[in-house]
Amino acid sequence: MASPTVLPLVFDAPKRGLPPRHLADLDVAGRRSAVEALGEKPFRAEQLSRHYFAGRAPEQMTDLPAAVRERLTADLLPPLLSVVREVDCDEGSTVKTLWRGHDGTLVESVLMRYPGRTTVCVSSQAGCGMACPFCATGQAGLTRNLSTAEIVQQVVAAARAESARGGRVSNVVFMGMGEPLANYARVVGAVRRIVDPAPHGMGIGQRSLVVSTVGLVPAIRRLTEENLQVTLALSLHAPDDELRDTLVPVNTRWPVKEVLAAAFGYTTRTGRRLSIEYALISGVNDQPWRADLLAKRLSGKLVHVNLLPLNPTPGSVWDASPAPVEQAFVRRLRAAGVNATVRDTRGREIAGACGQLSAAQSSSVQT
Ligand code: SAH
Repeated sequence: MASPTVLPLVFDAPKRGLPPRHLADLDVAGRRSAVEALGEKPFRAEQLSRHYFAGRAPEQMTDLPAAVRERLTADLLPPLLSVVREVDCDEGSTVKTLWRGHDGTLVESVLMRYPGRTTVCVSSQAGCGMACPFCATGQAGLTRNLSTAEIVQQVVAAARAESARGGRVSNVVFMGMGEPLANYARVVGAVRRIVDPAPHGMGIGQRSLVVSTVGLVPAIRRLTEENLQVTLALSLHAPDDELRDTLVPVNTRWPVKEVLAAAFGYTTRTGRRLSIEYALISGVNDQPWRADLLAKRLSGKLVHVNLLPLNPTPGSVWDASPAPVEQAFVRRLRAAGVNATVRDTRGREIAGACGQLSAAQSSSVQT
């Protein structure tokens, strides 16, 4: 029987705890009318947007008269997230930032610099309500949704840091804290601000964005209708319902076949290759027969399997699969004609790797 508690979570996210309204929460028309309501000409909205999305601070917005700038920034650019701490590893090429929201909420983002590309991994919620037992964020439950502007701000801050070094952010992945599709409207708003060209947004290519989900089927279907070109990643982690029910509890509501059908519906509509996320857990989901079943479910589809060794969370009873088991799993998938690679695990030593983001853990480590 359908669980009565899951569906409302998908679309009717609580507004509780959201920060004051910000420029990045509004669409183009909303920004213009907000500026007009403050007694300014609508074109000022474009000027302010161009500066904000380029990562400029108010004092750098020199084409706005001082009085106008003050009025507009006070109302439309309220402070949202302040840096609590930054830690880096991999010789500075991975940087994790812990942010504090207006209400004390803690979230994290991770910047990863690779040769030729820079990726920001953003949080979409403080905490997460999906309760996957292997994920650090899932252990603490959901604190609240992030606003559109709080999500965008993580990318803008990274863009500012990159441009100071002569670089730019090329990719954005919604793989930080939270279930993006459980905060649907705000996440889609953030996607639009990130991809819209200047002056209305940051101008990052749609195909350079990844939205990762546990598989909220109605929300995947809704995303399919948005006319976007972002990559969808599905956190599958098991090809059979019996195991997936325990690893990704929302599977009890939308089982493997149903979630794959919805995800491939997205692929058919957008032409985008589906990413399947599969964390290899020793002795749990890494058996040859599961590789074969996974291959069978994906065979002939436009799909890529991202395997990654589990990052054990503190106190976890599980461990990553040994390298030979991992290699055997990849080989079986490839032999069946399914694209598969093993993902790197950047940021491990700063607890910034996949599934390790946890406000509880971060706040207890004082600097
Ligand atoms: N809620 C979304 C996005 C956040 S997590 C989702 O589940 O897709 C991003 C990815 O990290 C997901 O595939 C998630 O299953 C994976 N992950 C979580 N904890 C992990 C861990 N301890 N080791 C490896 N991957 C993990």
